[in-house]
Order: sequence, then structure tokens, then C-alpha cells
Amino acid sequence: MNPLLDFSGLPRFAEIRTEHITPAVSQLLGDNRALIGRIRQDTDLPTWDNFVQPMADANERLSRAWGQVSHLNAVVNTPELREAYNANLPLVTQYYAELAQDQTLFEKFKELRGGREFEGLSAARQKVIENELRDFRLGGAELPAEKKARFLQIQEELSALGSRFNDNLLDATNAFVLHVEDAGELSGIPDDVLQTAREVAERDNAAGWKFTLHAPSYLPLMQYADNRELREKMYRAYSTRASELDTAASPSGDTGNLDNTPLIAGILELRKEEAQLLGFECYAEVSLATKMASTPAQVLDFLGELATKARPYAERDLKELRQFAAAKLQLDTLEAWDLAYVSEKLRLERYAFSEQEVKQYFPETSVLPGMFGLVGNLYGINITPVEATTIQLWHPDAKLFNIADSEGKLIGRFYLDLYARPGKRGGGWMDDAISRRYVGGVDNREYAVQAPVAYLNCNFSGPVSHGEKVRPALFTHDEVITLFHEFGHGLHHLLTRVDDLGVSGIHGVEWDAVELPSQFMENFCWEWEVISRMARHVDTGASMPRELFDKMLAGKNFQSGLQMLRQLEFALFDMHLHFDFDPYGQKTAQQLLDEVREQVAVIIPPGFNRFPNSFSHIFGGGYAAGYYSYKWAEVLSADAYSMFEENPAGTVVNSETGLRFWKEILAVGGSRPALESFIAFRGREPEINALLRHNGMAPAPA
Ligand SMILES: [Zn+2]
Repeated sequence: MNPLLDFSGLPRFAEIRTEHITPAVSQLLGDNRALIGRIRQDTDLPTWDNFVQPMADANERLSRAWGQVSHLNAVVNTPELREAYNANLPLVTQYYAELAQDQTLFEKFKELRGGREFEGLSAARQKVIENELRDFRLGGAELPAEKKARFLQIQEELSALGSRFNDNLLDATNAFVLHVEDAGELSGIPDDVLQTAREVAERDNAAGWKFTLHAPSYLPLMQYADNRELREKMYRAYSTRASELDTAASPSGDTGNLDNTPLIAGILELRKEEAQLLGFECYAEVSLATKMASTPAQVLDFLGELATKARPYAERDLKELRQFAAAKLQLDTLEAWDLAYVSEKLRLERYAFSEQEVKQYFPETSVLPGMFGLVGNLYGINITPVEATTIQLWHPDAKLFNIADSEGKLIGRFYLDLYARPGKRGGGWMDDAISRRYVGGVDNREYAVQAPVAYLNCNFSGPVSHGEKVRPALFTHDEVITLFHEFGHGLHHLLTRVDDLGVSGIHGVEWDAVELPSQFMENFCWEWEVISRMARHVDTGASMPRELFDKMLAGKNFQSGLQMLRQLEFALFDMHLHFDFDPYGQKTAQQLLDEVREQVAVIIPPGFNRFPNSFSHIFGGGYAAGYYSYKWAEVLSADAYSMFEENPAGTVVNSETGLRFWKEILAVGGSRPALESFIAFRGREPEINALLRHNGMAPAPA
């Protein structure tokens, strides 16, 4: 039997072969189309049970099977897998686009909305139907036939272009290797980074060290390598990835292959065309139709206000950096490849600790139990590992955990795949494998729900062997924050109490509010109360000295002005790109970015920098005209967290507030508007002050 067609339990990763993909997709699409054909012909009044539920069942099977394929494509990418993925992706996309435009289904949803059953449905089910109607309209259901055909074609082309954008970026990232044979060039680089670089070289039977553009190699090299030339080489390679200037990706001089520039232009034109077909002015309006923010102008105002507040702090940061570089490092000019290096040196001097020192206190073996203990105390849940021999995983590094309530009843499960490796997409992300939903079935009236399952993926350095001994993975504090962040997404998906697929967990949550639970979790990484319990030295087991933590805390807002301005620069670029930028005009996306930088940035990168070519959030992911949502959600998460800070007992790990957060935010998922959920939790509308205070940009409250 094809393991992709088994929905009885967890995915059977060890049995899934590339040749299973096409038959599974083909069968599911066939089954689903047959079911929808029957539903379309059904002349009975549409009800939840005869219409919505059976379609949800069918679409869930497809999304679970395809979700496994997408997941494997992202974490254990091979040429064969990628080929099968890319061959089937248009078929899946086409199916959903057809559904989105099916006039008969649209009419049935309208009939259901206007019918007598509607008022008696739960709020969650009403929201599912309202969302369907909205999405039908956004999916082109109200378009005349010839425009519909074009709309469908655009969707397919956009999906293929986005996928190629990511493939090019991954290939370009893999294509560059910096081979160093002279140990004299490596001063400053930490031992574990060298050890990994050494192992990469050994795998190629090469002498010396090989550095790559993947984060665990690239970032520390930029931060610590004393050799300025080495940093410059790495920076040039990194910042020209997948562009016409990327020499590693096209050693033959044929620059066309992995260059994302034409893809960017194509994507922007197609998005504009799609928006106008739907009757919008620009793609930003399409994007905002499903978000908490209402207009592009509102978003630009929001970003502009933050940029105004952040700018003096960014200017102060840069001035300090320049003065320090000239006085202490004899660097009269501050080049782009010096920024991370000089910043780290300045931070070392000012706060007298390094990430390398901190890392010793964050072995995986302390961080995971610490994080699980924290959420255990907040929400009264229990997290336990599942024996690897009893389940199927896609890689030996992956693990599975159960979440149970205080009575031992299973709430959900999550996979954890923490380490970077070749063939794995960069960054950290959460994905749903299985969603919580009612599975009693139409005829079987017994109420039953299925437990949700999540994938949590990161790209940290793995354990390193020292002779006989294997040392656990050591995380930087930033990596701990990333882990908490993804875990926050995971809890949003897993702790839902909504039983209808379209709005359970993260489904149906407005995009600009979806980062609330993840960014909320990051705050705990800055609490001594949490860190003192969690951080243990990898060799001695000693807890982290309070003094060290205080220094970290003092350094927390180090360069917060520069960092915030950088995020705002990307967000403004993204919003303008999809709002008032003309994709058919003379100006290129790169030129627009240059203009945005002129206006808001205090650091202008070198002319060869091709950031847009690796901006996969907006070209290869779902963040188009939505990058601002990180900051938007930061306002929400900082403000929500301030309720824990205000706890009169003086502890942020407060189960009363925790349970309220679970009930009003995590549990409800997309079953009601995010603003309503926020107000239900916080007792008022969101305010910007907590975020500014957390970033050191406003006085603490009296
Ligand atoms: Zn996130």
C-alpha cells in the first residue's frame, strides 16, 4: 500500500519513496474530484454535514499527503524528490485553484450562509463559512469565464516561479564553498565552527577547512574571523546569491541558470495582473484582505512611525560602531563585511561576554527540558519524548514528542528536527502535519477529535564528537530564542480547542497576527526566572552565573535601533513593491530597495548587494505585502507579555495568566478575529508602548 495514502496515524516517513508521490497525488485528486462532482449534483439543501464536512475530509487527506511530500522536500531534499515535487505541485495548485473558482460550490456556500441552519452553527463553523465566501471572492469565483482561465494560469505560474526562486537560492547557497588550507587565515574563528568546516573538507577528501554560506558556517565566520579578506569573500558570495553577480552559481559564466532577477520581475507582474483581475488596485490590497491591518496606507503609517522612533537610536548605534572601529580596530572605513565583526568586538568590550561563552550554558540537553518545563508550568501540560524505535522518522536527527494534559490525556504531538544539514531548507519554521478536528463522521454521531501534530524545524549546529565523546548540541542565545519562537507557533497549532479544520490552530488566523504566540514565547528567554532554571554548563552542570545573565540583559538592546530599522527597511520595501511600485515600469525592484534605503536606512550596503534575490519570504514564501506583520505582531506579543510582567506576585511564570492566554489566544485559533481575541485576553486594544520599552526606546512605566 502507498504509505502516503495511509491516514490512520502518523506519517510513515521511512517507507515513503519518490515513486509513491505521483500515484498518491493522482489518486487523491481523482477521489476528491469525484466527491466534489457528486456534491455539485446534489440537489438537497446544502448543510454542514452533507456539504462542508465531506469536503473538509477529502481536502484534509490531500493536504496531509502533500504536506508530507512538501516536508520531505524541505528537510531531505534530493534531485529526484525535487523533481517529483515540482512535477506534482502544479497539479495540486490547479486543484485548489479550481475549487476556489467553482461556481456551484460558491453558490452552495452562499445558500448555506443564507439558510436556516447557519444561525444555529457554532461560531467556529460560521467563521469557516464566512472565510470560504471571502476566499471564493479572492479566488476569482465571481470572474467571468475568460478571466477565470487567465486567473488560474497566473496562480500556476506564480506557484512555479516561487518554487524556482527557492530552488535557485538553495542551489546558489550550496554552490559556494570557501576552501582554506592555511590555518594562519583562520584566527578568531571559534573551535566548533572550525571543527565543522574541517569535517566538510574531510567529506570531500580535502585538506584544510571548507566554509559554506549556510547560517551555522557563514554567521560565525562573519562575526569572528579576524581576516578581513576572508570576510569580504564570504560577504560578496552571500549577498550576491542567485543574482547576475553570483559567480559560484555559474562558474561557466552562464549567469542565467540560478539568477532570480527575471523571476522577481515575473512574479511582480503576475501579482499585479491578478490583483486587477479581482478588481483591486494593487497586490497589497489583495494581501490585506485577509489580514488584521486594513489598508496599505495604514501599514505604511505604522512602519513610518516606528522608523521615526527608531532612527535616532540607529544613528546612535552606528556612530558608536564607527568610533569603536576607528579607535580600537584601526578600521577607518566600516565596510559591510565589518559590521558583524566590529559589532561583536564592541559588544565584547562593553558587556564582556561572548556568545561562545553563553553557548556553553545552552546545551540541547538543558534547553529542551527547560522549555518544556516552562510551558508545563504555564499551561499545566506534560511533554515527553516518544521512543524512536516505535515510529518512523525522515532522518536520524528528528525526534517526536507527546503533549498531554494534567490528567495524562494526549493533546497533540510534535516532531523536532533541529540541526542544519545539506539538502535542508535554511531558517526555522513550523508546519502542521495533522490538524485538530472533529472526526466523528456524518453517520457516526459519537463525538471524536483527532490530535494535532506539528513539525518544528531549525538549522542549528548539531552535536560535535570530541574523540570518543559526543558533546550535545550547543545553542547560542539567539538560537534558543528561535527555538522558543517556533515552539510558540507549534503550541498555537497544538493547543487549539477548535474542532473545525478551517479555523483550528493556526488555520484561518490573520497573517499579521499569526506571529503573536511565537514572538510572545521569545520574551521568556530574557527572564532570569526562566533562564536560571534552564541554563546549565555543558561540562560542569553549573547553572549560569547571574552576572553573566545580567550582562546579556544589558546587551539585549545592543543595536536595537539598527536592527529595527533593518526590519522596517525590508517591510517598507515589500509594502511599496506591492503597492505603489509599477512592475511594468523602468524601475527595478533593486532600485526601489535602494530608494527605501535612502529614506530610512542609516547603513547603505555596497552596490553589488542583491538582497531582493534572496528575499524568499516575499518571493518564495507567503509574506508578499505581509513582511510588516512581524513588527505588527511584535506590538501584539509585547503588549500581551506585559500582562505577565504586571503580575503582582512578581513572577512571569504565572499559570493563571497562562491559562487565560491559552483560553483567549491559543485555544481559539482562527475561530474569531485576532483583535477580538486580543481584547478578550488583555482587556483593551493593543498599544505600542510595551514594544518600544522592550527595545529600550521608551522610558519604563512609572
Ligand atoms: Zn514565526
